[in-house]
Amino acid sequence: MAKTIQAIRGMNDILPTITPRWQFVEQIFRNLMQSYGYGEIRLPIVEKTELFKRSIGEVTDIVEKEMYTFEDRNGDSLTLRPEGTAGCVRACIENGLLHNQTQRLWYVGPMFRHERPQKGRYRQFHQLGVEVFGFAGPDIDAELIMLSARLLKNLGLAELVKLEINTLGVSEERQAHREQLIAYFEQNMELLDEDAKRRLHSNPLRILDTKNPAMQELVENAPQLFDFLGEESKAHFKGVCDYLESVGIGYHVNHRLVRGLDYYSKTVFEWVTDHLGAQGTVCAGGRFDALIEQLGSKPSPAAGFAVGIERMVALLEELSESPAEGPHAYLLLAGETAMQQGLAMAESLRDQISGLGIVVNCGGGSFKSQMKKADKSGARLALILGEDEIEKQSITIKNLREDKPQQTVPQSEIDSILRDLMA
Ligand code: ATP
Ligand code: MG
Repeated sequence: MAKTIQAIRGMNDILPTITPRWQFVEQIFRNLMQSYGYGEIRLPIVEKTELFKRSIGEVTDIVEKEMYTFEDRNGDSLTLRPEGTAGCVRACIENGLLHNQTQRLWYVGPMFRHERPQKGRYRQFHQLGVEVFGFAGPDIDAELIMLSARLLKNLGLAELVKLEINTLGVSEERQAHREQLIAYFEQNMELLDEDAKRRLHSNPLRILDTKNPAMQELVENAPQLFDFLGEESKAHFKGVCDYLESVGIGYHVNHRLVRGLDYYSKTVFEWVTDHLGAQGTVCAGGRFDALIEQLGSKPSPAAGFAVGIERMVALLEELSESPAEGPHAYLLLAGETAMQQGLAMAESLRDQISGLGIVVNCGGGSFKSQMKKADKSGARLALILGEDEIEKQSITIKNLREDKPQQTVPQSEIDSILRDLMA
């Protein structure tokens, strides 16, 4: 036999045993988006490499070492999207969605980063993303956080996560802080790891985001960006905090919170959990007012966030929330005649009862093996059609989830029995 071909490391199949949890997350997200008046945007998975270099930043983990970049047949450099914001902004500029108007948008889909695969960190992973454009004030930052809070609440995860927020100010403020930060790190060169040394002059702020335990103390005592902020940045941040307090959303101000991408300014936030080991950030976002101009368009304020679906699903598993149920009924067919009539019977039930979930036993098999399949399908009822039933125009019903006596009823009654079950 030929050798089997395996999937690419870090790129997972999501099997039907687990997809109900994915659907649950996506469905709740979609419903929320509709209730807050956000519109869906669908974007290409491949973009020009230049787009990510210019937006995410040359000296970020993503652009330095995580992108799936390849040459198209005509020699263009293309990249599988490592995140959704860059493509979303590109599309909005290209389609004229930013000029003199506001946008509230969402998307969902796969992202690709060549990272070291481990629990909660994959090479193909999936995000729910939200982006808003044209709003400069703290109100929209707060709305985004409220929306993400409600998402976590509706998923039943509120108890497992905490909100951290910070402000990164504006470019001039970061510049002033940057000089002092570099000076501070230079005085402590011997404590810097390789990544930090490399970033020292290109992107020192990112050193604050280090996950190296040996550098925590150093980073803890570093000059804080917050002390370099002007009135406007501080007022914006206070505005966000006040709005959150007005709706009772608890938060922790973490002045060391920076984000892994260069385009953020002012508000940044993360929802973190200590239930997923090192991969504890389930949702992350913030404001990126400079990005649109950076991508060559007239400036427009912007903000957004992204949720890692894998990590949400892992948290749901943590709670062992049972995924969606099986069908309402499983139809067992005993004997030739039943096998001939089974599909037609199920079709007519589907015609009569909208929303009915019914699985027909295809492929025959002993009564015992059919019963096993019925149970495994997760169905609530087994409907049994055998020689006797066909002769008497009846059907036998066995409740697979509750201890109730099996009963045989006229076929004309199944309709109402199923409706009761579904009510
Ligand atoms: P991290 O610090 O965990 O590497 P990040 O800052 O690189 O995260 P973002 O680019 O902000 O992550 O992505 C938003 C969210 O997408 C993260 O909070 C996380 O839930 C999820 N995410 C990011 N990278 C991965 C990955 N490789 N595998 C699975 N989920 C991921
Ligand atoms: Mg990362």
